[in-house]
Amino acid sequence: MAIDEKPSRNEDEYWAKVDAELIKSRRAALDAEREKARKSEQQNKCPRCCVDLKEREYHHVKIDECPQCGGIWLDKGELEMLQQVPREKSGGFLGSMFGIR
Ligand SMILES: [Zn+2]
Repeated sequence: MAIDEKPSRNEDEYWAKVDAELIKSRRAALDAEREKARKSEQQNKCPRCCVDLKEREYHHVKIDECPQCGGIWLDKGELEMLQQVPREKSGGFLGSMFGIR
């Protein structure tokens, strides 16, 4: 955008520019909101089936399970937390989740 050396010369032009800036920043805020909503919406849905995931607590770790395909989704760091669950208590995370011994 060209810099207007005399912003008071044309008041309409000045306010049009202010309005454009306001619209631009409002637009950016709305886009950020929308992006946030979209992300949180996706987090609660199975990426495969797009159905709502069921939250399930396993040794204080909240895991998301899809009631349709049975997919299990972990947030960042949750797998590491599950690995800390003592084997004697859980029978091993993979073992108890999938029946593997
Ligand atoms: Zn699914």
